[in-house]
Amino acid sequence: MDMPIPNAAILDRKARIVAELRRVLPADAVIEDGVELRAYECDALSAYRCPPLAAILPRNTAEVAAALKVCHAEGVPVVPRGAGTSLAGGALPTADSVILGIARMNAVLEVSYPDRYIRVEAGRTNLSVTGAVEEEGFFYAPDPSSQLACAIAGNIAMNSGGAHCLKYGVTTNNLLGVTMVLMDGTVLEIGGPWSDAAGLDLLGLVCGSEGQLGVVTEATLRILPKPEGALPVLIGFDSSEVAGACVSDIIKAGVLPVAIEFMDGPCIKACEAFAKAGYPDCEALLIVEVEGAEAEIRHQLGLITDIARRHNPVELREAADADQAKRIWLGRKSAFGAMGQINDYMCLDGTIPVSSLPMVLRRIGELSRDYGLDVANVFHAGDGNMHPLILYNANTPGEQEKCEALGADILRLCVEAGGCLTGEHGVGIEKRDLMEVQYGPADLEAQLRVKDVFDPQWLLNPAKVFPLHVTASRRAG
Ligand SMILES: Cc1cc2nc3c(=O)[nH]c(=O)nc-3n(C[C@H](O)[C@H](O)[C@H](O)COP(=O)(O)OP(=O)(O)OC[C@H]3O[C@@H](n4cnc5c(N)ncnc54)[C@H](O)[C@@H]3O)c2cc1C
Repeated sequence: MDMPIPNAAILDRKARIVAELRRVLPADAVIEDGVELRAYECDALSAYRCPPLAAILPRNTAEVAAALKVCHAEGVPVVPRGAGTSLAGGALPTADSVILGIARMNAVLEVSYPDRYIRVEAGRTNLSVTGAVEEEGFFYAPDPSSQLACAIAGNIAMNSGGAHCLKYGVTTNNLLGVTMVLMDGTVLEIGGPWSDAAGLDLLGLVCGSEGQLGVVTEATLRILPKPEGALPVLIGFDSSEVAGACVSDIIKAGVLPVAIEFMDGPCIKACEAFAKAGYPDCEALLIVEVEGAEAEIRHQLGLITDIARRHNPVELREAADADQAKRIWLGRKSAFGAMGQINDYMCLDGTIPVSSLPMVLRRIGELSRDYGLDVANVFHAGDGNMHPLILYNANTPGEQEKCEALGADILRLCVEAGGCLTGEHGVGIEKRDLMEVQYGPADLEAQLRVKDVFDPQWLLNPAKVFPLHVTASRRAG
C-alpha cells in the first residue's frame, strides 16, 4: 500500500507546530511523545501502521476550530479520528500529519421526544446514543456491529450501516444536521432538527465524506420509538447459493423484515463457539428478524417461512425466548471478533444487487480456490452488502499481498455485478486504488472539485479515498 512521502519541512518544524498547538489547547490535549503516539498509529485495518507527527484531543468545537487554524497556517495535514474502528484505514495517519481525535467530545446536548431527535457531541459512541433515550422507549436505528466502540462522527464520515438498516436505512437516512469545522477554522451549521432544509443538500455531501471536507463536532440524529416486539428466525441451508436465492426471493416478494443476515459454514462455527447461540451446523445460515405487534410478526413470518420452505431448508427455527434472541444477535455482531480469534483475515465490504447473490457467491468460491486462500462470508444479505473475510497468515511472506489481490478481484466482481466498492466501511486507503474501477475520469474529477471547495489546500485526510496519482498535483499545493 503506497502512501505519500512525508513532507520533510513539516517534520523539521515539529517543535514549532506542537508549541503552536499548545498555545491554543489545554496542556493535556496535545500528545507528541513517541510512545504515546503509538496508540494512534493505525485503526482497525491494523496491517498498515504509521505514527503521526502529533495527536490532539480537543474538548469542544471552539478548540477544534482553534487547532485547525494552527494546522492550516502551518500547512500540516490533519486526520480526523473517532474511535479508530475503521476497517478501511480511514483514520490511518501519515508521519507528517496531526491526528485530531474527538473522543473527549461525547456529551448529550439536547433531546426532544415530541420532535424525535437527539443532539450529541460527535465523539459519543453509537450505542450510548440509544443508551441516552431508551428509558423513554426510543432508540437510534443504525447499528454497526462495532456500535459499542465506534463514534457517531466516524459513522457519519463512513455513512455506516448495520444489521437493522434493511428497514431503517443507514446513517444518512437518520442524520438531521451537523456542526462541522472547515480546515481554516470556519464553523458551519448544516441541517437541523427539521426534516428537509432549503438550498443545496450539503448534509448529503458531508455524510460519507470520510473526513475529507471538515471535522464534524456535533450531530443531530433522528430517534425512533422502539417497536412493540421483535423475533429472529434461523433458516439453515446446505448451500450458500440456495441461501442467496432465498434472500433474493424474500426481497422480490416485497416482504420487509428488519434484518436479513447471512453466514456461511466457517462463520457459523466461529460465532457459535463464541456466543453459544444455538446456530445449526449447516453450510449457510440466514438470520431473519421481523418486528412489530404480535399479529404483524406472525403475518410476516408466515410469508417468509413459506418462501424459505420452497428452498428446502435444513433448519427453520424461531428464537425460543428473549435470551436466545439476544445470543443470536451477539453471535452475528461478534462475527469479526470471533473469526479473528481463529485466523488473520481481511474484511471486504462490497455491495451487489440482491438478485446476483447466488452468482457472486459462486464466483467468490471459484476465486478463493484459484488463489488458494479460504474466504468466509458474513453479510447484510437483505441489502446486498457483502463482507467476505479472506483468511490468511500474516506471518507467511507474500500472503498479505496475495490476500490484497484476491480482495481486489472480489471487489471488481461486485462492480461487474452492478454493485459498488463499498457498502458501509468506506474507501479509506483500502479501496482507494480501485476507485477507477467504479468511476471514470469525469466522475472522479467532480468529486475532487467538491473537496477543492471545502479544503482548497488538500490538508484534510489527503491520502485517502482517491488514487494517489489522481490527486498528486492537488496535494502538492
Ligand atoms: C469489529 C468491527 C465491526 C464493524 N462492523 C461494522 C458494521 O456493522 N457496519 C459498519 O458500517 N461499519 C462497521 N465497522 C467499521 C467501523 O466501525 C465504522 O466505519 C465506524 O463508523 C467507524 O467509526 P470510528 O468512530 O471508529 O471512526 P474512525 O475509525 O476513527 O474514522 C473513520 C473515518 O471517519 C473520519 N472521521 C472520524 N472522526 C471524524 C470527524 N469528527 N469529522 C470528520 N471525519 C471524521 C476519519 O478520518 C476516517 O476517515 C466495524 C468495525 C469493526 C472493527
